[in-house]
Amino acid sequence: MAEDQVHTVERTLVLLKPDALVRGLGGRIISRFEDAALKIVGVKMKWMDEEFTRKHYFDLEERLGAEVYNLTATFMQQGPVIALVLEGYDAIATVRKIVGSTYPNQAPAGTIRGDLSHMSSAGSVAVGKAVANLVHASGNKEEAAQEVELWFDKDELHEYRTLAEIFTN
Ligand code: GDP
Repeated sequence: MAEDQVHTVERTLVLLKPDALVRGLGGRIISRFEDAALKIVGVKMKWMDEEFTRKHYFDLEERLGAEVYNLTATFMQQGPVIALVLEGYDAIATVRKIVGSTYPNQAPAGTIRGDLSHMSSAGSVAVGKAVANLVHASGNKEEAAQEVELWFDKDELHEYRTLAEIFTN
């Protein structure tokens, strides 16, 4: 089997952003991950303060500039978020595929951002608007490891077998 065909079990961090919660979309969004056989191994609800936001988006200002950072930080602190650690085969890439691309007006139909974001929340620094795209998901293995560690203590992550795992092992 070629190396790029080897599938490994991974853990990844997902945040349901404040816009997902105020719109009452939490359950529907979580269902999309469960439908794809991603297992919830950690969950918590939290208000992000300035210090924690800086830790979570530690490279955002450097990557996209102070205006994007400030708009995003303010947006993330407008309400509580739900943090999830999801586990599954190729979980990092699978979750990103289900979430869709950053800008709601570019995210394909069938993805969370493409189906459920308000297209008016495409966001633009020029008009001082945050990109209200409902979900954060770790972008790669390094980011996933760092983000899971930032958000969760070891004893907040849980091991159990899903019914599918019980019947296939
Ligand atoms: P993600 O991994 O798809 O969330 O995208 P990034 O890591 O590049 O950006 C982090 C977050 O910053 C995004 O989810 C948006 O909420 C916000 N963001 C990114 N680009 C822009 C932009 O051009 N304008 C504004 N206002 N916000 C942005």
